[in-house]
Amino acid sequence: MNLVPLPYKHEHYRCPSCARDISADDISDSWRCNVCTSAVAIYAEDATGRRKILNRLSPAELHENFCVVIPGAGFEYIYKVICVTPKNGNFRVALRSYRAVDFTPGSLIECVIGAW
Ligand SMILES: [Zn+2]
Repeated sequence: MNLVPLPYKHEHYRCPSCARDISADDISDSWRCNVCTSAVAIYAEDATGRRKILNRLSPAELHENFCVVIPGAGFEYIYKVICVTPKNGNFRVALRSYRAVDFTPGSLIECVIGAW
């Protein structure tokens, strides 16, 4: 799965380290602040009005207990990472109460870091 995040009904962006808002035009492909390289906090609202704060991370940055949004599913279905294992050049991410999903190294995975 080479995942491109779907746009939400609403998104805005902030760097938690610099404590500044970031415009969509200043977002790089890595989803990191171009001043301090912190992961950008994405304030997103899904189609049903649920609001979460996300990071978009590569599979190499995932760790146990990170909460992952299933692509395209909105915020009704969020699963905890059990483990991440290298597999044939990709990353196999085992999700609790779901299944294992393989991601290519260049994928972006949405992880929930809070709500707003
Ligand atoms: Zn920053």
